[in-house]
Amino acid sequence: MITADALRGVPLFSALPPDTLDYVAGAVEDIRLVAGEYFAQEGDERALFVVIEGRAEITKVVNGDELVIGVRTPGMLFGEVPMTLSTKFPASGRATEPTRILRLGVSEYHSLAALAPSVAAHVGGVARVYLTDLQNWAAATPEAEAHLIGPRADRRVREIATFLSRNEIPFERVAPDDAAADGPVLELRDGSRLVDPTMREIAAAVGLGVQPTATEYDVVILGAGPAGLTAAVNGAAEGLRTLVVESLAPGGQAGTSTRIENYTGFPYGVSGDDLASRALKQARRLGAEIVVTRSVTELRPGGHDVVLDGGDVLRAPLVVLATGVEWRGSGRATDRRRRPGNLRVPGASTPATPDDGTSRTIPCTTLTSG
Ligand SMILES: Cc1cc2nc3c(=O)[nH]c(=O)nc-3n(C[C@H](O)[C@H](O)[C@H](O)COP(=O)(O)OP(=O)(O)OC[C@H]3O[C@@H](n4cnc5c(N)ncnc54)[C@H](O)[C@@H]3O)c2cc1C
Repeated sequence: MITADALRGVPLFSALPPDTLDYVAGAVEDIRLVAGEYFAQEGDERALFVVIEGRAEITKVVNGDELVIGVRTPGMLFGEVPMTLSTKFPASGRATEPTRILRLGVSEYHSLAALAPSVAAHVGGVARVYLTDLQNWAAATPEAEAHLIGPRADRRVREIATFLSRNEIPFERVAPDDAAADGPVLELRDGSRLVDPTMREIAAAVGLGVQPTATEYDVVILGAGPAGLTAAVNGAAEGLRTLVVESLAPGGQAGTSTRIENYTGFPYGVSGDDLASRALKQARRLGAEIVVTRSVTELRPGGHDVVLDGGDVLRAPLVVLATGVEWRGSGRATDRRRRPGNLRVPGASTPATPDDGTSRTIPCTTLTSG
C-alpha cells in the first residue's frame, strides 16, 4: 500500500493537503505488474491510473494490428480521457518492464475531485492534450486486406464475407464488372486473384493459420465457438501450448446471434460477433494458436492422437471437445434434434459419436457454453 508521504512526490497529488492525501492513500489500488502485463484493455470501464515506477505503453488496435500509440513514465496518467468524458477506455495500457501503478476507481475519483477540484482540472487538461491524438487514430480508415468481387445477394459471396468478418480480416466489397464471372473473386493486396475460392484457400491467402505449427501440444481444443475460445484463453493464460482447431471460422453458433443478453460480464448484452471477436483477440494475445478451415475427423483414444482432415496427426495429453451442436434437419419444422460435431472415435461412445451406441470412456473433456 502506498503512503501519503510517497503520494506527495506524484505531480497530480503534490499540492494536496495532508488529510486529502490520506484519503487518496486509502482509496487507490497499488498494483505491481511484470513486463507485458496489461492494466487496462480497450473497451474496459473507466478508471484513472498513475505510473509510480517503471514504464508502460499505450496500445490501440488499428486495422487488426496492435500499435503502440504512447508511453507513460513515472508521474504520468492514463485514463484521463475516459474519466473526463465518461467513456470506456479507447486504448489499452501494458507494462514494458516491472512497473508500479496506482488505480483510482470512478467513485473514488469523483470523491477526490469533490475534495480537491484542482485534481479534476489537472486530469481534464491532460485529457485535452491526448484527445486530438485519439481522434486521429479513431479516424484511421481500416485498410482492406482484400476486395471481394461478386453480387451482394450471391450465397457464396455472403459466405465468404461472413468468413472474412469472423476471422477479423478487413475487406471491401466491389460490384462485379463482369456479369459472366465464374463465381466470387477475391482480389488480394498484392494484386493476385482467387476465383471462386474455397474457404481454406482464402484462409491461407490472407495469412490465417491453416496448418498447425507443431505436432505436439499440451492441449488441443476442437471448435472455436464460445466454449472452445474460453478454453483457449484459459489454457494459454496458464502457459500451456494450446491449439484450437476450427472447421470454419471462430464464433460458432454465437457468432450468428445479434444480441446475447445472458453472458456474464456484459450488463447491457453483447452481439455474438462482438463476443466472438473479443474472445478471439484474447486467445490470440495470450498465445493460443488457432487454425481455421480444418476439421478433426478422428480421435484415437489410446495414444491421445487427434487426426485432422487430410490425415495430419497431432498429439496432446488433453483434448477438449467444444464442437457444439449441429441442428439435424428432417424437413419438419418441429424436428429440433441436435447432434454434436461429426467425429469418429473408434470403439468409444462420447458426445462425439452420437449414433454408434457403443460405450467406452476416452480421456477427453467436453465443453459447451450452451
Ligand atoms: C441465432 C442464435 C442466437 C443465440 N442466442 C443465444 C443467447 O442469447 N444466449 C445464449 O445463452 N445462447 C444463445 N445461443 C446459443 C449459443 O450460441 C450456443 O449455446 C453456443 O454458441 C454454444 O457454444 P459452443 O462453443 O459450445 O458451440 P458452438 O457455438 O456450436 O461452436 C462449435 C464450433 O466447433 C466447430 N466444430 C464442430 N465440429 C468440429 C470438428 N470436427 N473439428 C473442428 N471444429 C469443429 C464448429 O464449426 C463451431 O465453430 C444462440 C444461438 C443461435 C444460433
